Amino acid sequence: MKVVVLTGAGISAESGVPTFRDADGLWEGHRVEDVATPEAYELSPTTVHRFYDARRAALLSVDPNPAHTALARLEQSLGDDLLVITQNIDDLHERAGSERVLHMHGELRSALCRACHGRHRWDHDLVDLPPCPGCGVTELRPDVVWFGEIPYEMDRIAVELARADLFVSIGTSGAVYPAAGFVRQAMRYGARTLELNLEPSEGTVWFHEARHGRAGDLVPEWVAELLAGVSR
Ligand SMILES: [Zn+2]
Repeated sequence: MKVVVLTGAGISAESGVPTFRDADGLWEGHRVEDVATPEAYELSPTTVHRFYDARRAALLSVDPNPAHTALARLEQSLGDDLLVITQNIDDLHERAGSERVLHMHGELRSALCRACHGRHRWDHDLVDLPPCPGCGVTELRPDVVWFGEIPYEMDRIAVELARADLFVSIGTSGAVYPAAGFVRQAMRYGARTLELNLEPSEGTVWFHEARHGRAGDLVPEWVAELLAGVSR
């Protein structure tokens, strides 16, 4: 059985990672258009670098929660038959032990070179404009997909959704495209679809089944059910 899981801000929020969908509509005190668009970067690269440098440093103060751990456990059983597609730019899935994770919106712990287009594992600040490890040019930017940019690996995602027997959406609002359209893509090719979210998402009607509550409760329960079924 092929399982594709899509995760969003809700799963990270339970680890204490602040998201821009918080109640005040700001992301750590910033308007999204001031820190998460190519235009903002052109206008004030220093502001944007400081913002992501702080987010990257803040990863050290959060830990994976039981939802991340349960998905890593599921990967141990399903292997290549599980793919986690995440909209999150933190590294909590990896730190819980997951290896098959596709970061469609990029990663905080990665830098993208605007000169050679290389992507480099990055755990330091970018604000002092360090040289690219690949080409030496000082054009490294945060390797995150900003509003107005195309998410990573959309072709591969389309193939994986078409192959999926089960599509599970965890902690996503169902408001941000293209990810919000994945459920319908998977369903068109015959996948069963399940939503696990704090509240009904905007796309909740598209799911065969929806369970509402904390990811830290719902995901371990669901993984236990699935593994019991697989071993039967
Ligand atoms: Zn480069």
